[in-house]
Formats: sequence, structure tokens, C-alpha cells
Amino acid sequence: MSSDRLISALGADHEGLRHLRRLSPRAAQRCEWPEWVPDRVREALAEQGILRLWPHQAEAATHAFAGRDVVVATGTASGKSLAYLLPVLTEAAAEGDGRTLYLAPTKALAADQARAVAEFDAPGLLPAIVDGDTPYEHRRWAQRFANLVLSNPDLLHHSVLPRHRRWRSLLKNLKYVVVDECHIYRGVFGAHVALTLRRLLRLAAHYGAEPTVIAASATAADPAASLSTLTGRPAEAVTADASPSPGASVALWEPETIEIEGEPQKASTLSETARMLAALTRLGLRTLAFVPSRRGAEIIAADAKARLGADPAADRIAAYRAGYLREHRRDLEADLREGRLLGVATTNALELGIDVTGLDAVLLCGYPGRLASFWQQIGRAGRGRDEALAIMLAKDDPLDTFLVHHPEAVFDRPVEASVCDPSNPYVLAGHLCLAAEELPLREADFRSIPGSREVADDLCERRLLRRRPGGRYYWVGSERPEVSLRGSGPMAVDIAETSTGRLVGTVDAAAAHRLVHRGAVYLHQGETYLVDDLDLDDGLALVHAAKPPWTTSPQEITHLEILGTRESLDLGEVALCLGEVEVTSAVISYQKRRIPSGEVIDTQMLDLPPQTLRTVAVWWTVEPEALGGVKDLPGALHAAEHASIGLLPLVATCDRWDIGGLSTAAHPDTELPTVFVYDGHPGGAGFAEQAFRKWTDWLGATRDAIASCDCRTGCPSCIQSPKCGNGNEPLDKADAVATLGVVLAAEDENAAVTVHDPRPEPAKSEEDDLWPGDF
Ligand SMILES: [Zn+2]
Ligand SMILES: [Zn+2]
Repeated sequence: MSSDRLISALGADHEGLRHLRRLSPRAAQRCEWPEWVPDRVREALAEQGILRLWPHQAEAATHAFAGRDVVVATGTASGKSLAYLLPVLTEAAAEGDGRTLYLAPTKALAADQARAVAEFDAPGLLPAIVDGDTPYEHRRWAQRFANLVLSNPDLLHHSVLPRHRRWRSLLKNLKYVVVDECHIYRGVFGAHVALTLRRLLRLAAHYGAEPTVIAASATAADPAASLSTLTGRPAEAVTADASPSPGASVALWEPETIEIEGEPQKASTLSETARMLAALTRLGLRTLAFVPSRRGAEIIAADAKARLGADPAADRIAAYRAGYLREHRRDLEADLREGRLLGVATTNALELGIDVTGLDAVLLCGYPGRLASFWQQIGRAGRGRDEALAIMLAKDDPLDTFLVHHPEAVFDRPVEASVCDPSNPYVLAGHLCLAAEELPLREADFRSIPGSREVADDLCERRLLRRRPGGRYYWVGSERPEVSLRGSGPMAVDIAETSTGRLVGTVDAAAAHRLVHRGAVYLHQGETYLVDDLDLDDGLALVHAAKPPWTTSPQEITHLEILGTRESLDLGEVALCLGEVEVTSAVISYQKRRIPSGEVIDTQMLDLPPQTLRTVAVWWTVEPEALGGVKDLPGALHAAEHASIGLLPLVATCDRWDIGGLSTAAHPDTELPTVFVYDGHPGGAGFAEQAFRKWTDWLGATRDAIASCDCRTGCPSCIQSPKCGNGNEPLDKADAVATLGVVLAAEDENAAVTVHDPRPEPAKSEEDDLWPGDF
């Protein structure tokens, strides 16, 4: 059936269809095997039906074989594995000493690779998975004999590097390090992985090896620079995708607006996705629905089944997510591959390299947050010569609403680069301690990371490191520092059931005050709990299962101090700045809101200590005289701040949840109406900086998103924020549009950016003002 007829079948009157884009088919290019690939390897691959290569595979493999770090950044199903496996298989076939460490961001992906490699029956190859589940004996075998160790950065960080003497044989002979799906390593997590890789390369060099890094990435802007940031070394990039594609029709869809109590509201994206999944399954089409949450995936699968009723197709729908048993997931993958299952609702667990392609249609329940993910998910559709169908359904938030009304921002925009900042002192300090404990630091170790020498000297002052005559830095702390690559770290708060002590989950300390304060209603994987007590000293929240007819929202006050301005842009009545700030916030009370009306039924005070965060912010100011027509200035700034946080993922590779904000009609440091947007991680993660560099795109999209929203006075699609610390008050939609208009009108292409002293003395403010903040 053609995509047009399918789309007609999905929405009889095309009510929700906002845009339809045809992606043209692409014919495959072929090339011969590089001369250096031995016959034994070609024969093993031919057994698997691989007779020739696509040029991007040969080019990337040849760079690696010649010892040059390389990243291959091409689309889904473009055979990236073969690009990195060719040199690895060649080394194994030659029965050389060279060994390979393969790193995947998830255990599931490493397992999938191991399965694929096992099918090759490659001469001389001895692969072994090493992850948290690997028994001691298997690990010992891998240490001594495996020439392809498949693992993940967490295991490298927690187990291999601290016990490097046991892994000496691997490190001494390390010839290749494969970094799969490397676009996943961004933000603070990316900085941690970058420093872990540098620790690996440093130890390998100590044992006498100089491995070549081969990376695979989704399509991304400037992948060579991203890989260089991860490794601290120059890299080549191969980006011309020569694999075939049958073409696709991609639809942008907005769930219809319905009137509830006189206010227009969007139909639920979940139920709209379930409706489409049921319809496509009924037509016998293999369909994958990508859903942002595990719970959402379960709901959509159940809802789609229910819609099919007695239709036998109902039995061919399932949910897929992390957290299922490994065997269960392997069964689901096989059922989907072989066509026993038709419709699967999945989290992004199926977005990564796991071998599920050849589908007829893909549904995206909401924009996945990044163009790289968008293309990765869309790329799952397409079988043989048949054109694929992909539909993205907008969620009820400012970014999704903007995108379905601005298809050029989806289709005609370069994919974001993966940004991370390994010189973030907050991330760097822990890794310098670990590195020094593994092997004393030398002067040369500081070269590839700006500012690392200063951080090391600071650690000496704190008596964690000691600099000996001769210039080496030694670890002298008593216990090896605990550093978690994925953020939550030792400060995490455990959530346990009061009556049984059963562990329900964990939240990081920064979020605990807002999510699990005494009296909070806490949602975890579809279950609702009431918090009995939060003990910050023990890092423990006690809860019991309950279903009260209300939700809770924390009330927060925030103080923000500008410590220094790194760069600024003077546009007359408007100014834009980037710099260091200190944010102090305290959760002071919480509101109980009735379900579903949201009416406030009670406010309870809390007694929680303030928390501080030193980070990087972007802020803009505007002279009050320029805002003549604006009546509700605090409401205008607050609304503009909310929407701009929602739109920031358009210009930076962050999630809305990585960002905080604050707006005020007069800030003591600027003495002007000011809106701040800051990175929610200590030391910053590079997001505010992206916003500063692309401020006209960012604030222009913010204004358009608010102005084009159908609502009258503001809704979750434009100016309301699910994480407002002040109950979404005050907010003024029309004045926000007017204010952003004034700011954007000040744009001056000739305005020069002033670069200030990068780390000036903190500016002291006398007043002690507190405002509602958003985090
Ligand atoms: Zn709205
Ligand atoms: Zn707010």
C-alpha cells in the first residue's frame, strides 16, 4: 500500500497531518576489498553472504588499519560494524598478539555485537563479553586469552582501570579500541567517558601499547571533532553513506485539539500513537513505536491490543524495554525480526545498534529530543525496495509543537554535534584522583586538557594529591574516590518502603529535595507512593504505596549570583551574556493539587536546607524603557524563560531536564529585567554556551512557538512548565511574545562579542533577594 493511502487510512480527514516529506531512495555503491584484507577473512565473511563492501566501510577500515583514529558516521543499517571489524578480524586471522577492546554504551548492545561476531566463525578470533554479570572464571579467561573483549565504559572505569595490573596482558597488546554509538557520549556523561578513555590510553601507553581508536556514530555534525574531544587526539571522519535506502515518507502529526472546560487541549499523544499502532498492525505491517518512557511503552502496547479486541493481530503486539529479563528481550527481538510480532512499542532501548531492521513503519511518540535520535529511529523503517513510512506525533510541549509547524527545523537542519566538556573541573577532579591512584601523573598528562594542571594543584592543596620533586603527582588520599560516570554518584538518595525496607529506586541528591520531600507523591514505574520521611543524613527516603486523589508540586525559592562574565554581546537596549553563576535554591513548601483539575487544595511548609550549584549560565537583559507595551513584566519574563528552556534542545544537545532557569524584573547584579538559563550540572555541560552562540535561532524559535500556539492564555505546549518552582505563576503569553520581539529586534549582525577575563573575581551583591526559580 502506498504511503499516501496509509496516511489516509490513519486519519480519515488528515486533521492531524502537518507536513509530509518524501525522502528519495538511494542506490548502493559497491567497492572491492582493500588489498590488506586476507583471504581467510574474506572467506569467513562470504559465508555470511558479505561478498563486497560499501565504500565507506572500506575507507574507514583502511584508516584504522593504517593506525589513524577514525569515526564512521553514517545512517542506521549502513554496515558500520563491518568497518570496525575488518581490521580487528584481520589482526586475529594473522594470529598476531594484537587485542581489541570494544565498548558499547549498553550491556544489551555489547551482547548483540557478541552474537553477530559469533556468527562469522572468523579465524583466530576469541571474543568474550565482560560486564557486571560476568562470572570471575570467565573474566580471568578474558584477561588472558580473549583477543576481542566486548564491554562498556562503566566496567572499564569501575573494574578494568583500577585493576590494570590484572589486565596487563590486554593493555600491553591493545591494538584497537572500538567506541560504538559514540554520539551517546555527550554532556556530563560524555565528559566522564572522555576522561575514562584518556585514562585507558594512558595506561596502555604505560604498558607499551599505542592503540588506534575506531568509532561508530549516528549521523552527526563534525564527528571527527567529537571523537577528538573524547580521546584528546586527532581523528579522521568518514561520512558519505554508500548503503542503499528504499526512500521513505515522513509525516509530522499533531494530535487534534479538543475543548475541555472552554480551554483547548491536545488529545493524548500516547493514545494517538496506540491508535496508529493498532491500525498499522491490523493491516499486517511490521511497526515499531518509539515511546519516551518505559511506562508509556507498556500503556501503548496494552491500549493498541485493547483497540484490536478479538482481532488475532492483537496477539502480535508487545512492549519492549530495558528492565525485562535478557532472555525475554532476545525472544522479542527474534519474534520481531522473523515477523511473528507485528507491532512493538519500545523505549529507545531499540534505537541503538541492535539488529532490528526491515520494518514497514515507525511511529515516534514525541520528538526524541535530538535530530540524531530522530534519524536513527526513522532509519529503522524500510525493507527491500518498499518505501517506508514514518510518523512523528507531537507531544504537548513547546519544542514538539514548534517542530511540527516548522518542518524545515526537522528536515533541513544539520544534525547536532555531540558536545561535551572534559575540562569541566567538577568532572575532571575525580578522574585526576583516579588516574593518579592508577599511576602517578606527569606533566605530559595535562597537555590535552586545558586547566587540568590547575585542578591538580588545587587537589594538592586539598591534600588528595602530592607533588613530588621532579614534577610527578601522587595520590595520597586514604580511599579511592567514588566517581559515577552516569551522574548520581555517592550522593544518591535511596527510596525504600517503610514497612518492608524494600528498595524502590534512587534519585540523585540534587533532585531529592524536589521529588521525595516529606509528603510528596512520588511516581516510580507506574506505581504511586507517598513519602513518609526524608533523611538527608542517611540519604534515605521512606515511602509507602498509596493512591491519593492529589499530586504534589514543590515550591522553591532561588537566589542567583553572577560570579563572572565570560563573554557578552551589547545590542544597545538588549544585552546577552555567558558566564559563571552560583544558584542557591531551597524547597520551602509544597502544594497539593486535586486530580485531574489541578486545583490547589493545601500548602504545607517544609524545612529543607538550601542547595548551591556553581555552573554556567546564559542570560539576557533588556532596558525597561524598551518594553513600553508590556504590562505584566514578571509574567512576560517568566513565560519567555519557560518556553526558552523548552526550546533549548533545538540548539544544544541537552534535555529540558538538564537545564534550570530564573527570571526577575530587576536583578541586583544587572539592575535590569533579566532571564537566566543555566546548566543543571556543577561546572556546566556546554549547553548554556550553545544557547549563547545561537541565541537568535534559539529565542526566535521560542517566540514563534509561543505565538503560534492555539491556546488563549498559555498551556503546556507553550509557556507552562512541568517543573516550575512557582506553580506556573505569574505567566503572560502575549507580553512574552512582545518582550521576545524587542530582544530579537535588537539583533545586530555587526555587534562584537566581548571576551572578558575567563575567571574573574566573584561579583558581590549586597542584597539578599529571593525569587521563584525553575528547575
Ligand atoms: Zn499554548
Ligand atoms: Zn517557573
